[in-house]
Amino acid sequence: MDPCVRKEASPLLTVDEACKQMLESIQPLMAHETLALKQALGRVLSHDVISPMALPSFCHSAMDGYAFSSRDVLEHQQFALKVVGTSWAGHPFEGALKQGECVRIFTGAVLPEKTDSVVMQEDVNNFNMVIELPADVGCFKHVRMMGEDVQAGQVLCRAGHLLSPIDLALLAAAGLAAVSVTRQLKIIYFSTGNELVPLGSTLKAGEIYDSNRYSLYGLLQHACFEVTDGGIIADDKDTLTDELLAASEVYDVIITTGGASVGEADYVKTVLETIGRLNFWKIAMKPGKPLTFGQIGRCYFFGLPGNPIAVMVTFERLVKQALMYLAGRAPQNPWYVQAICTTPLKKTRGRQEYLRGILWQNDDGEFFVASAGQQGSHILSSASAANCYIVLDAESLGATVNESVKVMLFSA
Ligand code: AMP
Ligand code: MG
Repeated sequence: MDPCVRKEASPLLTVDEACKQMLESIQPLMAHETLALKQALGRVLSHDVISPMALPSFCHSAMDGYAFSSRDVLEHQQFALKVVGTSWAGHPFEGALKQGECVRIFTGAVLPEKTDSVVMQEDVNNFNMVIELPADVGCFKHVRMMGEDVQAGQVLCRAGHLLSPIDLALLAAAGLAAVSVTRQLKIIYFSTGNELVPLGSTLKAGEIYDSNRYSLYGLLQHACFEVTDGGIIADDKDTLTDELLAASEVYDVIITTGGASVGEADYVKTVLETIGRLNFWKIAMKPGKPLTFGQIGRCYFFGLPGNPIAVMVTFERLVKQALMYLAGRAPQNPWYVQAICTTPLKKTRGRQEYLRGILWQNDDGEFFVASAGQQGSHILSSASAANCYIVLDAESLGATVNESVKVMLFSA
């Protein structure tokens, strides 16, 4: 047996398998609310949105110029047309065109009846309201057709879609002032540990400041979440039981950090077994091996490890996806890029590793990545310097300089 492989009592679950199992046991929220468009930014659509109209809703000019009919064109020779009016954006030309006539037109203005082409103003000469068109003037150019973007009755955005700024523009263009979105997830997060003290206190021997509630505060900033900081819970079975039971009555999701392992003072697993349903996983990932996932009544529970970097990695790789799925979003896989490694990386076989890295691009657009420094799961400084994870698969034994490696970007 490979001496690098440590024997585990129970087999480790792969990250992908853990992710799959998590999503399978989550029932996405059905409750929804109708919000004005701006309030809906970053929220998940609860229903398909159908366009009540075509986009563009009328045929219009893409340029400032002159609108004319292709029937007036004399092929391969110059010709002239009389300008008989103007079509402004918002103020269409109302008259009817006769043969040999054209209309001054501006970008966004309705194409007058009987016209089907626009010539740019730069391409013509205008002498006393008669324009000369070049021999090679093309027909049907600089015209935006009705419905070429969206047809009336077409789905604009599907249920499960997260609304981006450009989605708001799409819905607004179709005249939709409000949309139905899944309601926000009510999430509470706690830190657990007798050694933890809040900022503002003086540290006694062996105590540390609670930093996980700060990373989680940041990681949970999302339009789909309504987040509450639950404070610190001591390593005490009864207190933990009371706090978690009370929170489960009010919140959709509880997240804890710390106490997630199987040490003498790690009560999260035992408490969850008593008051809820438990999936305790040892995941083949580093950092972040122990992860407790389950339910207390209708409330979902995520018990993350205590080490600050394990919190970050398990959240970004697993918990965020689960939360977004619960919030109604269609499942999303992380984006990876390949980059040339510029520092040698050591690894033992067995777990997929998420190393903090610094990714950059050269002028040709090629990606390079270097280790951000020390990789212990308590090392915050390298995480602060990093902008990505270098993901080394379970079987990998590391990477050499110039080897291509897989990189997962930190969420912005
Ligand atoms: P645990 O998972 O409770 O065994 O904690 C693992 C390590 O993470 C220990 O060194 C803890 O002191 C540390 N830790 C746990 N919770 C926090 C926290 N909220 N902030 C900073 N470090 C923590
Ligand atoms: Mg602890």
